[in-house]
Amino acid sequence: MKRTVAIAMSALMLAGCGQKPAETANSGLTTPEIGEFNYIVDRFADMQILRYRVPGIENLTLRQQEMLYYLSEAALSGRDIIYDQNCRYNLPIRRTLESIYTAENIDRESADFKAMETYLKRVWVSNGIHHHYAGDKFRPEFSQAFFENAVRSLPADRLPLREGQSVDEFLAEITPVIFDPAVMPLHKNQAAGADLLLTSASNYYEGVTQAEAEAFYGAMQDPNDHEPISYGLNSKLVKKDGKLVEETYRVGGMYSAPMEKIVYWLEKALAVAETEPQRAALEKLISFYKSGNLEEFDEYAILWVKDTQSLIDYVCGYTETYGDPLGYKASWEALINFKNLEATKRTETISANAQWFENNSPTAPEFKKEEVKGVTAKVITAAMLGGDCYPSVPIGINLPNANWIRAAHGSKSVTIENLTEAYAESEAGSGFDEEFSWSETEVELLKNYLVLTDNLHTDLHECLGHGSGKLLPGVDPNALKEYDATIEEARADLFALYFMADKKMTELGLLPNEEAYKAQYYDYFRNGLLTQLTRIEPGKNIEESHMRNRQLIAKWVLEKSADDKAVELRQRDGKTFVVINDYLLVQKHLGELLAEIQRIKSTGDYAAAKAIVENYAVKVDPQIHNEILERYAKLNLAPYKAFVNPVYTASFDENGKFTGMTIDYTEDFAAQHLRYSRDYSYLK
Ligand code: ZN
Repeated sequence: MKRTVAIAMSALMLAGCGQKPAETANSGLTTPEIGEFNYIVDRFADMQILRYRVPGIENLTLRQQEMLYYLSEAALSGRDIIYDQNCRYNLPIRRTLESIYTAENIDRESADFKAMETYLKRVWVSNGIHHHYAGDKFRPEFSQAFFENAVRSLPADRLPLREGQSVDEFLAEITPVIFDPAVMPLHKNQAAGADLLLTSASNYYEGVTQAEAEAFYGAMQDPNDHEPISYGLNSKLVKKDGKLVEETYRVGGMYSAPMEKIVYWLEKALAVAETEPQRAALEKLISFYKSGNLEEFDEYAILWVKDTQSLIDYVCGYTETYGDPLGYKASWEALINFKNLEATKRTETISANAQWFENNSPTAPEFKKEEVKGVTAKVITAAMLGGDCYPSVPIGINLPNANWIRAAHGSKSVTIENLTEAYAESEAGSGFDEEFSWSETEVELLKNYLVLTDNLHTDLHECLGHGSGKLLPGVDPNALKEYDATIEEARADLFALYFMADKKMTELGLLPNEEAYKAQYYDYFRNGLLTQLTRIEPGKNIEESHMRNRQLIAKWVLEKSADDKAVELRQRDGKTFVVINDYLLVQKHLGELLAEIQRIKSTGDYAAAKAIVENYAVKVDPQIHNEILERYAKLNLAPYKAFVNPVYTASFDENGKFTGMTIDYTEDFAAQHLRYSRDYSYLK
């Protein structure tokens, strides 16, 4: 649930990790206050680079710190893998540009140099030469002549030349990849009709056509196997002497060098594991890194899901398959984190009261669950990002991915609250709220309560909303077909929104007072009716199901308010604003819509689903759309954000025993990448 809108944080929620237990006397670990922390590190192209706080790190025991440190080193050790996975030219290009960037006798003030610096920063953001989100290749704004001259002026030992390769040969190979827009234009082609492998720059296949790869993996699937391994997850498929072979990522196989380092650090972490389930999972992960055997990967995933009591947790391996046009092969990623105990109490409170919410929801009794079990989700604090999770990162994760493991063993769903905080804080003062709020009253509300209620909204949506209600007997779970995703998201959002205005929220201590929910309502309607349009290109419809659901809810309630004016759109100085005149009346309409959406879901009413989605969720008023785009453009906000990591420095006594660590937040974006390239570059 990533938002474009984000506001200053209420002091309330962040008070969370405040108490310092007496036994952790580590002076090197302190957390700066929000007001004293500078979140913004850098701004270039379409990017803003942020830093994130790690609140609560000062509360870790010495042993937990040691574990966190080793896992963080593992996270950084795999950095080169994702560059090579994204495109086979990424590492030589990154290294060449870094050599130019750090050359002693180069004019750092020239336009070419400045343009190359921006290009290099974009490569660092995207782990390669294709945009991390859009997937298209960056267009260099520096000249080819500048690049070639700069390369020729470097000593040969600062260039990533292959054995026996001359500088001329190197340039002939590398310059078209950077400068010719026709060479490797897309990271991942998704256009129907083309050979998706031959037209994609990602490096998961070599010399293999889409048809060959599909046949290769198709032959492995057994429809009677209800616990299938994730075929092809950790390998590159190549054609050798006319035969297809998998080059497996494992110690002793492909990407061995970085994986040896990862295993080195994981083994150190294993020795200081907090709990038996954590130890068992880590041990299996290490074994999988060594064997590359995907059955071991599944065994690891099951052990990892069962590790729920440890404070420290991690993702550190081949995980998500978004980068492979065929969806088999996983990129390497790492996210080292620890549980935010205070905020996790919130999700536990919600789950413990799941039945009360179900019984009191405004849906018809026949659609309610007799016995509801809240999904346990936890709130975490990210401590180190690596691989495909760095420098841009999701703010929520739900793993593992294998469906049969999720069904049989469950999954872990996490919200990464310290990253949400950085997003929100970095936009405070951008003028967004002032531009898009009707009055100072709403600006104040948002400032005080939006982050708090955003997090609560996510918790209610995930822990209760999706799990609420039931299908009537005999209703096909896929009855709503292409409209199901939007209806399902609407159901979860409505459940969250409806209850947020209930007195139960203050009774349970989830909200501080009966004003706070209004921030969520105002933001939700403003977003659903107006500001989410900033992400839609002129002339296009809304396609993404979360965005459809928001507009559905907001427009439906707006129409319902035609007479009572609970919510309305008003004009002032040629600008359109959302005005909420009666928040409790809005809640009533949300309840009416929830009852109807639940009826559609419970009865599998496809015709009604289609009508409500097509009527409210898809189409965009072109006049309002243009107006919003113009107003947004004037704010000069960066559409994408990425992070720098904090720097941990560990100390050891003369016997090599860990004695503590420090955290430093001051490293800048370029310095961090140059350091990582120097200290964690394990691929040739
Ligand atoms: Zn959802």
